[in-house]
This record gives sequence, structure tokens and C-alpha cells, in this order.
Amino acid sequence: MSTVQATARHKVVVIGSGFGGLFGTKALRRAPVDVTMLAKTTHHLFQPLLYQVATGILSEGEIAPPTREVLSGQDNAQVLLGEVTDIDLTARTVTSHVLGRETVTPYDSLIVAAGAAQSYFGNDHFSEHAPGMKSIDDALELRGRIFGAFEMAELGANRGDDVDHLLTFVVVGAGPTGVEMAGQIAELAHRTLRRDFRAINTRSARVILLDAAPQVLPPFGQKLGAKAKSELEDLGVEVILGAMVTDVDERGIEMKFKDGRVERINTVTKIWAAGVQASPLGKTLAEQSGAPLDRAGRIGVNPDLTLPGHPEVFVVGDMIALDNLPGVAQVAIQGAKYAAKEIHHRLDGKAPQEPFKYFDKGSMAIISRFNAVAMVGKLRLTGIIAWLMWLAVHLVYITGFKNRVTAVMHWFVSFLGRGRSERTTTEQQIFARAALARLRRGATDLVSDPGAYDAARAMLETTRQELEAKAAEEARLTDSGARGVHSDA
Ligand SMILES: Cc1cc2nc3c(=O)[nH]c(=O)nc-3n(C[C@H](O)[C@H](O)[C@H](O)COP(=O)(O)OP(=O)(O)OC[C@H]3O[C@@H](n4cnc5c(N)ncnc54)[C@H](O)[C@@H]3O)c2cc1C
Repeated sequence: MSTVQATARHKVVVIGSGFGGLFGTKALRRAPVDVTMLAKTTHHLFQPLLYQVATGILSEGEIAPPTREVLSGQDNAQVLLGEVTDIDLTARTVTSHVLGRETVTPYDSLIVAAGAAQSYFGNDHFSEHAPGMKSIDDALELRGRIFGAFEMAELGANRGDDVDHLLTFVVVGAGPTGVEMAGQIAELAHRTLRRDFRAINTRSARVILLDAAPQVLPPFGQKLGAKAKSELEDLGVEVILGAMVTDVDERGIEMKFKDGRVERINTVTKIWAAGVQASPLGKTLAEQSGAPLDRAGRIGVNPDLTLPGHPEVFVVGDMIALDNLPGVAQVAIQGAKYAAKEIHHRLDGKAPQEPFKYFDKGSMAIISRFNAVAMVGKLRLTGIIAWLMWLAVHLVYITGFKNRVTAVMHWFVSFLGRGRSERTTTEQQIFARAALARLRRGATDLVSDPGAYDAARAMLETTRQELEAKAAEEARLTDSGARGVHSDA
């Protein structure tokens, strides 16, 4: 176990390098504090563009810059890799692990921004064959599965096999992510890939968007939802509403309609974009503080985003349940900036801020190239105007100048042309998740245990010392002429 050195300055630990974690850390750059950002990945992640990595438009680097590089100019911030497994509110420490190595980091103030994971609504086994879309690993796996399905279909068609199940793609969840994903797969099949195969007609692929809700894009209201649905249908997407997924296996998906009807779709490629569950760190905090948790595991916080009974702990972003705030990037960014400002105010002896107030800057979802829906205040926009707005907003929020430049170039390739710059896939991309899941402790099983490694090193050191002592004795005997002298007496 290692312990991060305590310093005399006020110590802020930030958990997470997503929107809340990164923006919170940056907002502390002028505060008289030492910040330690602890996260389980080495990158920040712009989740809203994950679907573009999955469908070959953008590279993973463009939406996931290394946090260490982003914060290299911020002298009061240190970045540490590790999955936080425990927070001790009494001892004021955070415990994290990476590949069996444990680190304990003390804090004076804590900002928890660990976000949310995919939820399968209690059917976690669905994830085996229907990956979610929450991480770079997920997006690259999906890229491999989507392009891989077309490859397998070409191979099968050459042999005269039925390949319909390979050319059927089902996206579960008709929120913004599901809509964007379904739209992009349809564009792949109808535009990008149409000249690349010989035995199959990619335009015959079925792309299905499925949801238990009665409409597409529920948070956007009925009118925009209906508009998005008809635009998707024009693109060739089949939209199935009011159908709940009841089973997922390697070859298909089963759904149940409100009238009790059960139907199965034969499909190899399933994508889960249906629900979220807050980080389990919410439960850790709730157990120690008595704060309530809602059904999605989000923790009830005070109006100033602090944990009840713990003014030194702030929780922000997707992990919180406060005033029905949505799980969107701006809630995390604004909450983290608020928490950072409050820490700074306290150290300067200033009065507390007014309770946190979220400023809604609007929502948007892209349907296909040049076509999006947007909601800004009372304004409802569709088509190319909404799409241009989407483009501008995403360019502003992509982290790093060079990422913005290359993203624009890739968008030119995909939206003005019909190409995709990032179609590379590998076998490991598709199968590594399943392989790691079969190991008892995941990747930790593949590296030597830190204890065993230290013991082996200690043993080698003792052996080396013994050998050196023996060699020194041999040299002494030779030098003194004692070697070879025999006493016959
Ligand atoms: C596919 C997709 C599309 C989206 N599209 C939009 C959109 O168009 N517009 C919009 O506003 N919002 C969108 N969102 C939602 C938005 O991305 C989230 O609301 C936002 O990321 C929340 O920020 P956060 O800081 O709370 O969590 P995150 O950004 O998820 O960050 C969580 C961080 O915590 C780290 N972490 C988690 N657990 C641990 C642990 N135990 N130890 C250490 N580190 C940990 C993670 O690695 C990550 O760095 C989308 C989300 C997804 C998944």
C-alpha cells in the first residue's frame, strides 16, 4: 500500500476525470490548494461523441485527451490513476486500486464526480451480447462488432448462407444516444459501405431502434420526438416503440409488447443505450452519511451540492439527485465549478454562495448529416439549423485545439463525402471484454501480485548477498595464499 504525501496546503481530492472532475480541477487552478485528481482512466472523455467513434467517424484520441496533458500547465494539480474503492468520511481518506496496487489519499475537501454506468435494469447478463456505450472500450468494441458484422455477412453470403441476422442491427433505447447511433448505422449501410462489398448489398441491412417508451426522444417533447421518428424512418431505420426487451442472447433479442405479444429479432449486433445507474460510490457515501439514494443509485445532496453532515464533501454531475436535474454534461460542469468556487471562498473567508442553480443551455440530438433536433429555452429547431448549432456547440466543448482541428477534418470526410476515416478494427477490440470477464480479478490476474514480486526481489537480493560474500571469501583465500595449502599434520 502507498500513501500519498500530506502537504501543509489545503488538500482537495477530485474523483473522476469526466466533465465534473476535469472542470472542477481546472476551476481550482488559482485557489491556494493542492489538487489530486483520481480517476480510473488516464483520459477525459467527451461521451456525447462516443457514437461517432463507434461508427468510424472520429478516432478515440479526439474525444479522449490524456488528462495529464490537459492539466500539464496547472502546477497545483496532480493526476493519479486508480479506481476508487472506498471513501472514509471519518478518516477523510480515499482508497484506490490499480492492478492490485493500493493507494490511500488524504483530503481536506473532496469533490466526487464518478458519473454513472450503463444500467440493464437488473438484467446485467444482457451486457454480454449487448454492449453499452459509456467508455472508449465500449465504442471500440461496438466499432469492431458493427464493421465485423458486415465482414461476416460477406463471408457467409459467399458460401450461400442466410446472413439476415448479420445484417440486422438493433439499438435499444430511443434517447439521444440511441437515435444518433441508429442514424449513423443507417448512413453506414446506405452510403459509406454501399460500394465496398461484392456478395452482400449493405443497403438491405435492417437497422432497428427499439424502446419501451411510446415515443422517440421523450425529453424533447412530442413534436420533436415525432419529427425525429419520421426523419429516422426516411433514413431507413425501423422504429419499434412500446416494446420491452425481455431477453438477449448471442443470436438475437426478444421483446414483449404491452398487449402481451412476444417477438424475437434475429440479430448478432445489439447496442444497449437504454439506462444509467450512478457510480456505486454513491452507496458508499450514503451508507456513511445517511443521505438517501434514488432507484438509479443517485445520492440526495444539499442545495449547495454538499453531502448531508459533511460540508467538506461535494458530489456533482450524474451521481446526484437534486431538483430533478438531468444527467447531462452541463449539470456536471456547472456543479463542479460551483463546488470549486465554494472551496476557494471558504479558504478566503468569504460568505457561502447562494444554493446551486443550474442554467439550462438546451439539448440537441443529431439524426443524420445536416439533420438534427434542438431545444433551446422555448425555441424548437430541426434540420440543418439545429445541425449547425450542434456542430458549433460540440466544437466549443471538445477538449484541446488539435482535437478540434482533426475532428473538423473528419467531419468534412464523413458529412461532405461518404467516407469514414476510422474504420480500423481488431479482434482484441471485439473479444477482450469477454476474455477479461472470464478472469477472476480481471486484468489484475495478468500481472504479478505486488506482494509476490517484492518477496521474489527480497529473495534474489539475499541470494546475491550470499554469493557476493562467498566470492569475497574465495578471493581472500587466493590472495592470502591459503588456497591450495594443505596441512599433512
Ligand atoms: C453515449 C452518451 C452520450 C451523451 N450525450 C450527451 C449530450 O449530447 N449532451 C449532454 O449534455 N450530455 C450527454 N451525455 C451525458 C453526459 O456525458 C454526462 O451527463 C456527463 O458525462 C456527466 O459528467 P460526470 O462528471 O458526472 O460523469 P462522467 O463524465 O461520466 O465522468 C465520470 C468519471 O469518473 C471516473 N470514475 C468512475 N468511477 C470511478 C471510480 N470508482 N474511481 C475512479 N474514477 C472513477 C470515470 O472514469 C470518469 O472519468 C451523454 C452520455 C453518454 C454515455
